[in-house]
Amino acid sequence: MGGGVVVRERVLYGCQGIAGEWGHNVLEVDGPACYCGKRGCVEQFLAGPALQEYYTSLSGKSCPLAEIVRRCERGSDAHAEATVQRLIAYFGRAIAYLINILDPHVIVLGGGVSNVDLLYSEGVRAAMPYVFNNRLETRVVKNQLGDSAGVFGAAMLVA
Ligand SMILES: [Zn+2]
Repeated sequence: MGGGVVVRERVLYGCQGIAGEWGHNVLEVDGPACYCGKRGCVEQFLAGPALQEYYTSLSGKSCPLAEIVRRCERGSDAHAEATVQRLIAYFGRAIAYLINILDPHVIVLGGGVSNVDLLYSEGVRAAMPYVFNNRLETRVVKNQLGDSAGVFGAAMLVA
């Protein structure tokens, strides 16, 4: 899970070039191993492959994320519901840490997981217990470029 920070219409790089790399913030020190060498990174709880693996660990079946979400919405699959509820809980905690540090006006979600509509309602509510304030005005919105965002970014780098 990548990330970027934009301040006053400019990308923030940071002194080491890793500003916005929230995907490897550790949510659980004893969590699943991550390819970066740590355990329990955000990526290991919120990325599509991690969600699919979690669902498989519960159900013994392989299933694409979109189908897991559909099964959850239909209320027909307890393992799918557990997977989505776990996503929502960890998503809330993960964005709360960002909100406490940056207090951004908006958080824009991209990638396949951004298609999980519950993140914009229940996911944001799940952040509240971890946000310093007793109110949350940061808007969490879906990207407008869909799956092409990476291609647009690469083109802009060249330009
Ligand atoms: Zn990691």
